[in-house]
Amino acid sequence: MNVYDSERMSELLGKVGFVRHSTPDSVDMIILNTCHIREKASEKLFSELGRLRLMKEQRARAGERLVLAVAGCVAQGVGKEIASRVPEVDIVVGPQNYHQLPTLVQQALEGDNRSLIHTEFPAESKFDFLPDERNHEGVSAFLSIQEGCDKFCTFCVVPYTRGAEYSRPVSEIIFEAQSLVECGVQEITLLGQNVNAYHGLKPDQTVASLSVLIEELGTIDGLSRIRYTTSHPKDMDDGLISAHKRLPFLMPYLHLPVQSGSNRILRAMNRGYSAEDYLVIADQLRNARPDIALSSDFIVGFPGETEADFEATLRLVEKVKFSQAYSFKYSPRPGTPASEMTNQIDNDVSAERLGVLQQLLDDQQRTFNRSKVGTKLEVLLEKPGRKQGQLVGRSLYMQAVHVESMDRSIPLTIGDLIEVDVVASNKNSLAAIKTDQPICKEDI
Ligand code: SAH
Ligand code: SF4
Repeated sequence: MNVYDSERMSELLGKVGFVRHSTPDSVDMIILNTCHIREKASEKLFSELGRLRLMKEQRARAGERLVLAVAGCVAQGVGKEIASRVPEVDIVVGPQNYHQLPTLVQQALEGDNRSLIHTEFPAESKFDFLPDERNHEGVSAFLSIQEGCDKFCTFCVVPYTRGAEYSRPVSEIIFEAQSLVECGVQEITLLGQNVNAYHGLKPDQTVASLSVLIEELGTIDGLSRIRYTTSHPKDMDDGLISAHKRLPFLMPYLHLPVQSGSNRILRAMNRGYSAEDYLVIADQLRNARPDIALSSDFIVGFPGETEADFEATLRLVEKVKFSQAYSFKYSPRPGTPASEMTNQIDNDVSAERLGVLQQLLDDQQRTFNRSKVGTKLEVLLEKPGRKQGQLVGRSLYMQAVHVESMDRSIPLTIGDLIEVDVVASNKNSLAAIKTDQPICKEDI
């Protein structure tokens, strides 16, 4: 979501004359867009700011003004601390306030060098203030449809940093998707902290669920692939599960975080489902779309996690068989109930469990990738690869695929949706050869 937000900030500032740069040297403004989800992500901000404050001083000595801004969830969570620890920061702006950036830049340039902090949750939706037309480069894009969370898992800062759950209206999303397609986008990933809790208003004032929205988006000419992330198991309703059977443009890949396989820990996390519930959902999804690839998030070392709890997580992983996954050591976050729990787990124990879990997940990922060798896969080519003439794209299942053309006289083209022969695999990617001509949406 931060990638999406950064892109929107740059589009917004483009309207008042800023141009996006790939390096920080000699620019007029630097925005650090930050993540607060784990301590490590937050810490990065302060080390980066240490470097940038020196750069700002250097530029000032040369008579130049560099505006420093901090955006995102760290800004939201510890905005005042940022301003007091690093007074060189001109603007601190939360994820629901970045539409105010053009005005804040103006104020910073005219003001008395005090940091401007905007982290309240405004009544208006920022989306009403962002440019209607998108300006996106590339064939795949993110589109935020839902933000915030009302679930309050005991380990998580999101409800405090992104605020209450909000769904954008259907017509606004359709318009933005059309605008992205006009920029050349063929694949859209719908985003939300709880994307499958989406319940946006339709023009007739009735409410659309995520599956209804996806169905509507599928009618846009030129949009070949739709994905959505991140889903919560509790919000995986029948309509959405059956959408994976009904809608060929809905990709057979689902990121569905489970966090733990122990019912005791799931309860302490306030997740609202059991390990058995999760297994039933995985089965239903596989009945709807047998080839669906499942991905997940795991937290090890949640307060009170015993060896038996951890083993329950390993058993769940063995049953589900994931195509890939993200796993983390529990990180206590300020203001969350779990950070106050007295039964915190020793770091060495968490580290050891994480190693064991990651080994199992890595093995499953390798096995999944290997199972595609010798098959034909549809790939959307996105960018140049490392080798001459090679392009990299994504399979239906989100795997990175490095593609080369069998006939070097027919070069590959970014944006082609092609069928390839998979010839090799490793943990993170597949290698493939292009055989057929581009395929069009109707053939999928
Ligand atoms: N809404 C999604 C997850 C959003 S946060 C869901 O409910 O599943 C993304 C991931 O970060 C989570 O799935 C979790 O695995 C991880 N995470 C969140 N808070 C964490 C914490 N305090 N410590 C370690 N990992 C955390
Ligand atoms: Fe955080 Fe996801 Fe739980 Fe919401 S549902 S509190 S975003 S982990």
